[in-house]
Amino acid sequence: MKEKNQRPHEIQSLTSTGTTPLQSHVAIVISMLLILVCVVAYPYATNQGPRGFLFFFIATSLASFAALMTSYLLLGQFLGTHRPSLAVLGSTYLFVGLINIPYLLVSPDLHIKDDFFNTSAYASIWLWIFAQIGYPLGILLYILIDRHYNTTHLSSEHTKHLLIFLTVIIPTIIIVLSIIAIDAYNVLPPITTGGQQPLLIMPVRIFFFGLNAFMCLSALLLLHRLSILHLWLRVSTLAALINISFTLYARGRYTVGWYVSRINGLMAATLVLCALLYEVNKLYTKLVQQNEELAKQNRIQSDFLSVVGHEFRTALTSILGFSEMMREKDLDSQDIQEYADDIHSDATRLTRLINDLLDLERMKSGRIEMNWEEIDINALIQEIMDHTYATSRPEQIQLGLDPHISPIKGDRDKLTQVITNLVNNAVKYSPDGGSILIGSKQEGNTAHFFVQDHGMGIPAGKLDQVFERYARVESDTSRYIGGTGLGLPIVRQIVEMHNGKVHVESILEKGSTFHVKLPITSHAEPANKTSQLAVANRHIR
Ligand code: ADP
Repeated sequence: MKEKNQRPHEIQSLTSTGTTPLQSHVAIVISMLLILVCVVAYPYATNQGPRGFLFFFIATSLASFAALMTSYLLLGQFLGTHRPSLAVLGSTYLFVGLINIPYLLVSPDLHIKDDFFNTSAYASIWLWIFAQIGYPLGILLYILIDRHYNTTHLSSEHTKHLLIFLTVIIPTIIIVLSIIAIDAYNVLPPITTGGQQPLLIMPVRIFFFGLNAFMCLSALLLLHRLSILHLWLRVSTLAALINISFTLYARGRYTVGWYVSRINGLMAATLVLCALLYEVNKLYTKLVQQNEELAKQNRIQSDFLSVVGHEFRTALTSILGFSEMMREKDLDSQDIQEYADDIHSDATRLTRLINDLLDLERMKSGRIEMNWEEIDINALIQEIMDHTYATSRPEQIQLGLDPHISPIKGDRDKLTQVITNLVNNAVKYSPDGGSILIGSKQEGNTAHFFVQDHGMGIPAGKLDQVFERYARVESDTSRYIGGTGLGLPIVRQIVEMHNGKVHVESILEKGSTFHVKLPITSHAEPANKTSQLAVANRHIR
């Protein structure tokens, strides 16, 4: 077998997923129940019960079905993870599931008098023995391989070949064992005594008990990682040990001990199968989420390349063009001044792009310090209006601030960035110059401020997307408006860092309102704010 060591991104599987305390507790409770049932039934174990033919048939068929399903699940995990140990475990369950089929067919009880093939009682005993040897040996081999080759992963090609080989070889082994048990049992060593209900001889019983006890102890002590699979494997091996001990002690079919061990075995197999199915389903859901996240990251990466590439190419082309002209032409000082201004504005745009990118990245990874202080949101809006928008298009912007709004705890610079980004967008995406309203109001424990414009609006289907990195709404009008799709993601990131929420309401070609809701720290009425804000709630001039 050729191996590739340590794959860089191992697929999450039943062997690599750790257990939660709840899962461990459930497994312990089930193990205790298995033991408890045996303790209660122990005094009556050798009592003969009724001959339930259907019980034997149903219990054996169900146990076989559970083993085959478990095998299907484990071989599926092998196909995904390429771990050779899972191939061994899957084959073990495949062996146990399949050998129950000839075992049922040659069991005389099923057909009332004779078995299907009219064989001697030894055929069913031997098939039972093969099953009882195969399971512990398979588990021990699994433990050995898992311990020594747990970082080994086969190549995809070898995984497929091994899987095909196993699904052919295991049924072949079962056929050979069945032929031996049915036709050639007289060449096998004598292992029973007695006539009508033959009993296994003492050394054979000791061997079976020892083998199962060794398997159970190995599963308990040698499985070094407590993954989901290993947790349930321990329950399974414990159930197998209890069952074999009880069967050997009860001595014959249809005794109380025989019934109890069959029911116990069936319950354990079904529970383990259900637990594994549940976990696989959970892993699948996780995988789907990871896949979606990867697709999103992929889109972000390609959007990043196209936005940054486009912005850089546009800015550098114009910087190159203007500097070329300044170098080659004989220009008067006014032309030089104009060209230098253009170069400066392009370089500033690039710097802003880089700063936005770095800011967002740092905020996302939590590498940015927040300077928390008490902030009067109305005063901050007012301040920004006075400094930033006092001269540029002031008549367009109106304020509608609630004088009774309580202060919030926040970072002044970051909240300034939020307000500025939203107001800049409102101005930018209102090419016809519609009025813009910046308002605030208190809603319970929340300070709510909003920026409302009467610009081009956002299509309903894009309302959530505009907060994603590099997302831009493509339309005939917006095509000519520059942007990078970083402003709103920065707004959302900052608002979330304040434990707040931002959302947008919009009607296409009628306008948009961006709402920001931030938690209020105290309900204390800000002193003397009413009179100041009466002045503030006016058209900015
Ligand atoms: P940028 O404006 O640089 O493209 P933003 O992240 O600020 O990036 O905005 C993302 C997109 O959301 C914009 O490209 C635009 O399509 C849309 N958008 C943002 N604000 C408004 C608004 N006030 N009116 C209409 N569309 C808007």
